Amino acid sequence: MNKIEHIGIAVKNLEQSNTLFAALFGEKHYKIETVESEGVKTSFFKQGPNKIELLEATDPNSSIAKFIEKKGEGIHHIAFAVDNIVEEISRLKKEGFTIINETPKKGADNKLVAFLHPKSTNGVLIELCQDIK
Ligand code: ZN
Repeated sequence: MNKIEHIGIAVKNLEQSNTLFAALFGEKHYKIETVESEGVKTSFFKQGPNKIELLEATDPNSSIAKFIEKKGEGIHHIAFAVDNIVEEISRLKKEGFTIINETPKKGADNKLVAFLHPKSTNGVLIELCQDIK
């Protein structure tokens, strides 16, 4: 695993949160992207080398909607960059982690992504992401 690629924050209202985080960072988001398959709308902010992803549910059955219902708004996941997501999934599986997406799927920001179940990682949802070249 390489560096933290981004931190994902679940929000109820993306438009309001975009304004809030733009005020916080002193800079606007650089992209908005809807991932239909996940039922989410995302926006991305860059702060130096760090990226923050805001996620709003577009579907009441999406995992973001369920997360907010259970825990409220806040940090949702930590994403790590990997060079080879397929190899990393197989390594982590061997280590005994529960992989939610054994086959990586297309995520936001031109990435292949896979999630580790938080029950196997002390309650932290971890995302692996590999750039699609
Ligand atoms: Zn993410």
